[in-house]
Amino acid sequence: MDWKLTADQSMIREMVREFADAEIAPHAAEWDRRKEFPSATFEQLGELGLFGMVVPEEWGGAGLDGTAYCLALEELGRVDASTCVAISVTNSVYCAPVNKFGTDAQKDRWLRPCASGQWLGAFCLSEPDAGSDAAGLTTRAERRGDDYVLNGSKAWITSGEVCGAMLVFAVSGEVAGKPEFSAFIVPREHDGVAIIHREEKMGLRSSCTNQVGFEDCVLSSDHLLGNEGDGLKIALDSLDGGRAGIAAQSVGIAQGAFDVAHSYLQERDAFGGPIGRFEGLRHELGRMAAEIRAGRLLYLRAATLRDRGLRNTRQAAIAKLHASEASNRIAYQAVQMHGGYGYVTDYDVERFYRDARVTTIYEGTSEIQRLVIARAVLQSATGA
Ligand SMILES: Cc1cc2nc3c(=O)[nH]c(=O)nc-3n(C[C@H](O)[C@H](O)[C@H](O)COP(=O)(O)OP(=O)(O)OC[C@H]3O[C@@H](n4cnc5c(N)ncnc54)[C@H](O)[C@@H]3O)c2cc1C
Repeated sequence: MDWKLTADQSMIREMVREFADAEIAPHAAEWDRRKEFPSATFEQLGELGLFGMVVPEEWGGAGLDGTAYCLALEELGRVDASTCVAISVTNSVYCAPVNKFGTDAQKDRWLRPCASGQWLGAFCLSEPDAGSDAAGLTTRAERRGDDYVLNGSKAWITSGEVCGAMLVFAVSGEVAGKPEFSAFIVPREHDGVAIIHREEKMGLRSSCTNQVGFEDCVLSSDHLLGNEGDGLKIALDSLDGGRAGIAAQSVGIAQGAFDVAHSYLQERDAFGGPIGRFEGLRHELGRMAAEIRAGRLLYLRAATLRDRGLRNTRQAAIAKLHASEASNRIAYQAVQMHGGYGYVTDYDVERFYRDARVTTIYEGTSEIQRLVIARAVLQSATGA
């Protein structure tokens, strides 16, 4: 596989890198401390075309491929994982499925404004009692005449309180004794939709993570995405795209932690010179650099497969598993290299360490990625 980036991919990476360094990096620690969602910066990100990167231009998007999108996420993750996660959710698990499964009328109404940067999208699959076991969700969509009536609650919803619309998965019926799931596009400002609360988190503190409730929320049938019963297919397809993005976010966090550690090794003196001369620390730096490079190649491969129209379930799971676990090891080691200064908020490394933690949990835990990979390996002829 050829890893040379196209002109568009390189241009997007440069543009996002410059914006991230100039407009996000100087403020990220303060937003984190104040748990403040940076609305004004998101307006700028929307104007730059970063909400609907893979959406065709005719629907208000940037018309880029998934590889360019992942490169952009890495650059955002490198300076601020909170900003990165909201961009990731709106692109890969809101815009991408509405673009892929929506009718033209739905795209006009619920994709164009998001993809063109007017508002963020959210993805509501998880529930208080159903995360890894997504098929255990209990939010119901009952048919009432031509309408559906939603009842239930969703947990951990990134950008719930700041989004314009969300993709909500619910049980819409039963087939052969098993629940049937459907996906609905639900505007946040709609009767029966309530933000129940905002989570207090270890990391990603300037991103909003909400519990969202639906009580007798009446939706006309044009809110149904795809056909009745397509819900699980839409959710799983969205997550294949999303996981490559979370791998890219993880590589970005790891790169951010690596960069500050690399500088610190030159700055900090002990035993008569910079600590970067100690072989033990150099070995660690070498391991960190190798893990970052491997993570980047893995997400690029996962994204490239999808860009070529190929299924990337296994590759996205491998990329997410490696990159998220590696970003935790790298952030841990970067804190260690800072000694006591790594444990206080004066250096960004403390934030990177907290932010890395969730990458092995959301969009499928590491345990679930291993299951996905094992299933694919067992089904393939070579096992490779
Ligand atoms: C900050 C944040 C943002 C999020 N954003 C969103 C969002 O926008 N939209 C959304 O829908 N969800 C979101 N999530 C939810 C996230 O995807 C879930 O937390 C995740 O899928 C795990 O589900 P759970 O928390 O219910 O854990 P559980 O599923 O209860 O898992 C608990 C433990 O059991 C393990 N486990 C479960 N099943 C198995 C198995 N079969 N084999 C081995 N081990 C297993 C898990 O790996 C984990 O270690 C977010 C979560 C967080 C923390």
